[in-house]
Amino acid sequence: MKIALAGNPNSGKTTLFNGLTGSNQYVGNWPGVTVEKKEGKLLADKSITLTDLPGIYSLSPYTNEEIVARNYLINEHPDVIINIVDATNLERNLYLTTQLREIGIPVVVALNMMDVVRKQGTFICIKSLEEAYGCPFVEISALRSEGFTDLLNKVYSVKGTEPQKRLIFDHHIEEHVNELENTLGDLNYKRYYAVRLLENDQRLGIEVSKETLETAERVRKELEGIFDDDIESIFATERYEYIEKSMKTCHKCGVKKTFNPDKILMNKYLALPIFAFVMFCVYYISVTTIGTIATDWVNDVLIGEIIIPGAQNLLASIGTSEWLIALITDGVIGGVGAVLGFLPQLALLFFLLSLLEDSGYMARIAFLLDKIFRKFGLSGKSFIPILIGTGCSVPGIMASRTIESESDRKMTVITTSFMPCSAKLPVIAMISGAMFGGASWVAPSAYFIGIVAILISGLILKKTKPFKSEEAPFIMELPAYHMPKASNVFKHTWERVRSFAVKAGTVIFVACIVIWLLSNFNFAFEMVDSNESMLADIGSVIAPVFKPLGFGTWEASVATLTGLAAKENIVGTFGVLYGTAEVAEDGMEIWANLQQAFTPLSAYCFLIFNLLCAPCIGALGAIKREIGKGKIAVFALTYQTIFAYIVTFIMYNVGKVFF
Ligand code: GDP
Ligand code: MG
Repeated sequence: MKIALAGNPNSGKTTLFNGLTGSNQYVGNWPGVTVEKKEGKLLADKSITLTDLPGIYSLSPYTNEEIVARNYLINEHPDVIINIVDATNLERNLYLTTQLREIGIPVVVALNMMDVVRKQGTFICIKSLEEAYGCPFVEISALRSEGFTDLLNKVYSVKGTEPQKRLIFDHHIEEHVNELENTLGDLNYKRYYAVRLLENDQRLGIEVSKETLETAERVRKELEGIFDDDIESIFATERYEYIEKSMKTCHKCGVKKTFNPDKILMNKYLALPIFAFVMFCVYYISVTTIGTIATDWVNDVLIGEIIIPGAQNLLASIGTSEWLIALITDGVIGGVGAVLGFLPQLALLFFLLSLLEDSGYMARIAFLLDKIFRKFGLSGKSFIPILIGTGCSVPGIMASRTIESESDRKMTVITTSFMPCSAKLPVIAMISGAMFGGASWVAPSAYFIGIVAILISGLILKKTKPFKSEEAPFIMELPAYHMPKASNVFKHTWERVRSFAVKAGTVIFVACIVIWLLSNFNFAFEMVDSNESMLADIGSVIAPVFKPLGFGTWEASVATLTGLAAKENIVGTFGVLYGTAEVAEDGMEIWANLQQAFTPLSAYCFLIFNLLCAPCIGALGAIKREIGKGKIAVFALTYQTIFAYIVTFIMYNVGKVFF
């Protein structure tokens, strides 16, 4: 037996799915979290499969989610559809119910969030809803696991039964739909197809006869004539009128007036300042104050004073050769440790962002920024990936999944890494400290350039074929505010922290070994000074490429290259090449040497190029995963690098005139 779980985004599908199957899917107070369908077996009966479909508002093919969901329903023939409905938003949710009921597969409606409804003092008359929609309604609270038994019993009882009484449109429509249905022969789900054909749905996925197409065309014209409206509006109006009628008889009583925080938080004038203040607090806590204390402690005390000396002693005591000790302590522990050192800061940042996300606040920001972003061909939803990208591009790029429009999503994936991530912060700190006396404009300018690069890329990419698209309507549900749930927040934080740590343990681990080996040996595999190492030779070959950008030394070229493994490597590489191997986070020891090697202009150009050019391997991997096709990933890499090259070239040559 197969059960499909369908419902609006954020109606609690995944919570119910997890509750019924005992699995552990990602639950977010953020519409669009479930992008693909997920399958599981019922805890109550292992022979029954439950499929969690992506959240959809209708069966019209406006978004990918809608297509995934309806293809599943039509092609996989589930025995029963559980239509989960957010009972606090009944009217809007029932729109999908009217369409699901049309398919002909038995439907059981699960009225979710009943805990909230009861708290609001609202009463919903189940009986009148059942009468109006001709299928069972069950009150549940997915969050509190209430009503599950009742729900499953109803599901078993409707299985295999003839679909109950159908929705009745206006008699004109009914007659015309019937006429079209009759041309469809013995096709399954005739009524669904007839309505979709009438709505001129181009993505039905079936072949129909010429006769059917002609009938559809004619009937559509007739209906449009009768109602003096376009066909989509006719059906939508009919459905809403039906819902409205059904709501009148299902009487909700005693609605208590509750305070709506959006009155202040989304106020026309206050919204942006409040948002800026909230983000300032998040960064102040996680990056500037508490996070830095933790990160400094990990870097200086834990790694610098405990782990490295400890490892040196241990390795020496078991007679490890000197070069291997150097490789392990300087290369592996030093390199991987420098990256892991950022973990406390990032964990705190991710934790605070998860709080904001689960509370429902973040979803509103996307609306707030949509107007601005839209001017640049991006969607308001691009904001979340960009925001998360300031911590690390990898989760940022993954967060692009919430964007419906495929082309907007791809653009966001490609441009998110323009934002300075936490790995680029040490580079910014080093350049700003060494070349500009720590001037306070350097870091903000990096963020500013990052945002401008994203917006400009939006304008440019929108003009190219793969990214050109019709403006997708920005439909997103504002989730209800609620207290963040501890388990959700910790799960989100953990997932993000884990992916960061995995990166340190894999990509950076390998990169550190390679860099250390390359900078300590020459091509004859003799241990040499870094100036004569393989790394120096490689650097000299690529240096001319960067000459027009102002930093054509082999050291800068090598640093840029190693930055591709992980941007933190840039600081580490300079540490090895320009001074003592031990480099503090701000690179204090190498400042004097850096000042000799760069002019302020060339250093700034070096910084900007490294911020904008291809991101680290970890982020590139994420881009490939999210975009799917290798070709577009290669395009992304090329685009980013060429974009960075042009911007830096202009900056350097204009700068030369002025300075
Ligand atoms: P989906 O998008 O439909 O998969 O919805 P989720 O399962 O991700 O849930 C969306 C949000 O609603 C989450 O914050 C859940 O914790 C919350 N939620 C789900 N079911 C209930 C419920 O019965 N009562 C309350 N109060 N919240 C719920
Ligand atoms: Mg979900």
